Amino acid sequence: MNHKRSRALYDRALSVIPGGVNSSVRAIRPYPFFIERGDGAHVIDADGNRYLDYVMGYGPLLFGHDLPEPVRAAVQSAASDGPMYGAPTEVEVDLAEFVTRHVPSVEMIRFVNSGTEATVSAVRLARGYTGRNKIVVMEGGYHGAQESTLVEGSHDAQRPSSSGIPQAFARHTLPVPFNDEEALRAVLAEHRDDIAAVLVEPILGNTGIVAPVDDYHQTVRELCDEIGALLIFDEVITGFRVGGLQCAQGKFGIMPDLTTFGKIIGGGFPVGAVGGRTEIVEEFTPAGEVFQSGTFSGHPVTMAAGLATLQFAAENDVYDHVNALGDQIRSGMRDILADRAPEYTVVGTDSMFKTIFTRADSEIQSDDCETGCQQDRSCTRFSDCPKNGSDVQCAETDRWERLFWPAMKEQGIFLTANQFESQFVS
Ligand code: PMP
Repeated sequence: MNHKRSRALYDRALSVIPGGVNSSVRAIRPYPFFIERGDGAHVIDADGNRYLDYVMGYGPLLFGHDLPEPVRAAVQSAASDGPMYGAPTEVEVDLAEFVTRHVPSVEMIRFVNSGTEATVSAVRLARGYTGRNKIVVMEGGYHGAQESTLVEGSHDAQRPSSSGIPQAFARHTLPVPFNDEEALRAVLAEHRDDIAAVLVEPILGNTGIVAPVDDYHQTVRELCDEIGALLIFDEVITGFRVGGLQCAQGKFGIMPDLTTFGKIIGGGFPVGAVGGRTEIVEEFTPAGEVFQSGTFSGHPVTMAAGLATLQFAAENDVYDHVNALGDQIRSGMRDILADRAPEYTVVGTDSMFKTIFTRADSEIQSDDCETGCQQDRSCTRFSDCPKNGSDVQCAETDRWERLFWPAMKEQGIFLTANQFESQFVS
């Protein structure tokens, strides 16, 4: 494949954009390919190379790159009426009504502009509503580029995972291993009256794909209730993808107090949202006391795209279709791996999938991990599916970036550049 134009564009970008990209995950070694346009399930790069796309914008694109006609028409009509107004529009109400009708725990919703903004606002809301400061998060979970959740280490030795964040932020954030009921129980008992919320992705989607063990979320729900903390489901990835229009919370039968959305709810345009019980969400200003605001929030083009997307999905068996494709690719890959690399693991559900390059050793000390496991404890090999973030850290994560990704790219398959982010079918 020829990548001359992408190389030249990357050279130009490096001079004027830090690292040459506007989102860190796009900085692919030795250089990213620059996309010229989408075409169905494919993207075409600046050199005319065509790739089958399993990145799908990191999740927002349920239909691939060709919007169904009603979605295209809604977007074009909203854009040609005028980009935005700084005043409310009917379509915001329509989308809010649609979401509250389909997602059982959501009675009221505030739209913002990104998943990050949604989790920032949800954490502030939980703190304001409960009058408590601390939040519990999952090791290996991701909630966007925000101060309160860019935290690593275990709950008693946590530190910011990025330069530029004061240690004081990390003090209020308590990471626990996902799927570990006892660890959660212990942290909640220790910090009982200080915990505003447990913030969790129903399925970890930024660290391989890690599913909850049976009844895990039910237990988390009960433990939150016992200490009066809120349960926040971060459904930025899973919202309107896993579990169809009821989202992952519908699939697992859980009623969180708050839910954060992003990605699909904006039909491919910048979006985020915080939904939940009226009593809590009404604490946002101007109804309540927790400040929340945004020039672009409820942007009419985004709202039109989101509404038309969800309506199209509701009326056209979209989830049956994409989930069947997800089953097909997962089972096809399982067959290939059973034959060629039985130690590797295929994970995912609905339209999400990933291969985890599990280490074949039966027990791996953290020192042995190729990528340098962040955890202090030793990690055991998972025979079936990874149970938490450190399981995935201890896979041969390096192999993805060094060997697998470049080889797939050369064959015209577009995957995320590392082992951790999900792949999506459209
Ligand atoms: N939460 C989750 C679960 C995410 O996966 C992401 C982004 N991948 C975010 C929050 C942040 O969303 P955004 O990138 O739109 O700010």
